[in-house]
Order: sequence, then C-alpha cells, then structure tokens
Amino acid sequence: MKKYLIFLAGLLTACSQTIDFKSFPKIDAHVHLETSDDAFIKIVEENNFKLLSLVTRAAPQTVVDEEFSYVKQLYDNHPGTVAFATTFTMDGFGEPDWEEKTIAWLRKSFEEGAIAVKVWKDIGMTFRNADSTFIMIDDPRFDPIFDFIESQNKTLVNHNGEPKNCWLPIDEMTVAGDRNYFTAHPQYHMYLHPEYPSYEELLAARDRMLMKHPNLRYVGCHLGSMEWSVDEQAKWLDKFPNYGLDMAERIVHFKVQDRDKVRNFIIKYQDQLLYGTDIGIKDKNLSGTSTERIQEVLQNIWLSDWEYFTTDHIMTQDDKVKEYQGLKLPENVLKKIYYENAMRVLPGLGVKH
Ligand SMILES: [Zn+2]
Repeated sequence: MKKYLIFLAGLLTACSQTIDFKSFPKIDAHVHLETSDDAFIKIVEENNFKLLSLVTRAAPQTVVDEEFSYVKQLYDNHPGTVAFATTFTMDGFGEPDWEEKTIAWLRKSFEEGAIAVKVWKDIGMTFRNADSTFIMIDDPRFDPIFDFIESQNKTLVNHNGEPKNCWLPIDEMTVAGDRNYFTAHPQYHMYLHPEYPSYEELLAARDRMLMKHPNLRYVGCHLGSMEWSVDEQAKWLDKFPNYGLDMAERIVHFKVQDRDKVRNFIIKYQDQLLYGTDIGIKDKNLSGTSTERIQEVLQNIWLSDWEYFTTDHIMTQDDKVKEYQGLKLPENVLKKIYYENAMRVLPGLGVKH
C-alpha cells in the first residue's frame, strides 16, 4: 500500500510538473537581426535559444549586402547561436546574365555561412513583367536558382502571400493585429486592390513551383499563409510531406480556432512544424534601447508562446478578444517543434562552417 502511495505521489508530481523553459533547447527559426551590437546574444544564450535570421527581401543589391553584413558578423562571432538565410536581388531579372550573377552571389553567401535562401512575398506581389503582369514564384526563370539551392543542400525559406485576412474586409478579419495593420496600411490591404494576384493564385503558384522541385527542402513562413485553418495546413502538409511550416507571427491564429482541433493538428503534424516569432532586432529601431528592455521584449514573446504550448492555463492577449487556453503539448512534440525539426530541415544550424 505504501509503495502504491509513493507511486501515486510520483505520478501526480509528474503530471503537474511544468517543463523548465530555460534548460529546454530551443530554436527561433524566424528572426530578423540587423544590428552590430551583439549584447542581446547573451540573453539568447541564457534562454537556451539558437536563432535563424532571415535576410528579408529582394531589395537592390546594396541593401541586401547591408543586411547580409549584419548577420554575417553576428554569425562569425556567435556561430553556435546565430544561423542565417541569404536572399537575392531582382535587379536585372530577365536580363541574360541575371541567373549567372544570382548563382554566383548565392555560392558566395553559402561559402560565407548562409544555410538557407529566403524568398519574400515581393515575388508574387511587387515585381512585374514588362507587360505589367506579376512575376510569380513558379516563373521558369527561377528554376535554375531553386535547382542550385537544392544542389548545394540548402533550404528555401519562403514567405509567400499574406494572411488570408488581407483579402477580406476589415470587419471580417479574424485577429485584431491584422485589423489594425491593414487599417493603418490600406496600400497593402489586398481587398482594396483586386488588380493584384488573389490569395488563391499566390498559393497555387507556390504549389506549382514545389511540384517542379520535389527534392528542394522548403520551409513555408507564417504557416504558409494558411494560418486561418489548420484543415488547410493539414491538406498541404499531406501533399508535401517533406516540407515544413514555421509559425512566425501566426500563433495568434491558432488561438482563434478550436483548441482541441489545433492541439490534435500540431500533434499529428509534429514533424513538420517549426517554432518562430518574426522578432526583429534592428539598429534602426534600437537607438537608445537598453539591453534590459530588449531582454524584456524577447522574454515576453518567448515566454508567452511557451506558456501557450506547454501549459493548459487560461490566457489573454491584446490581439484576442476572448480568452484562450494553452495547448499543453506532450514533451516529445515540444522537442520537435522547438528544436529537432529546425535542426533537420535547416542543416548546418548551430555549426561553424
Ligand atoms: Zn519575417
């Protein structure tokens, strides 16, 4: 009897035990680092995080160079903590030497430590052909670039499209963050711009590109812009079982869907989901910001997500009208979404080349 009681007590402790945040190895697979002040790295390391920093967009080469030099310096000084994805410019796209120049630039980026290539939503939503049609991601002129990325054993990290809310009227949007953002930035609110590619067209172009490159390792940022429905994500992940989705800036969309359905979805697709935040640490926003303040911001985001994934607490946040309940995911699932999946789909993360 006594033995049984001790066993029972042990079981109860195990059930109520929370998983320790700091000692749990974690990767934030979607951040933007553009700073020469590396004081924040200490905070990242104390919280047992590694970061994948994404050079964001197909800007003019001088801008890409500048963003690249920030992450390269952080990576050189902290290769166990910071990994990075490069990107390429669209300057000269369509000219005969664009492909050669782009491949040379990517080769140099990989030699300097980049483990992935980021392609942003500006492909599909900004750049146009001479006849003013939009250049989509399945444009055959990108094929040699994606083939090269695959041949170098690197990963394509792709922000394609926007949250579906972007194509809805403000009062039909599902989260306050989107309502506020698109109210403030009507130029990006696609509901008002029917001349731009539709939500469906953007996602279809992405899928056609992936079908042309079945062996290209691919991470879709922001839940692949299918954040509004775990059913849609599930269908896509079934269709592309080797690919992953990062959750950056879209975890709030889980919170407005049915809690048990979301929990079952994450458990079922535990090998294909990556934790990420979209946190930006940038000199241009940081002048005068103390390390303590950066620490507070980082920890607020990371700890709030941690509470959501690891506990069943009833929680609130500004973005949400209603309360929501934490998912209390099993520890083996947490290990995958917080660490193992990123290590697998982003080879070289945490390693000095
Ligand atoms: Zn981002």
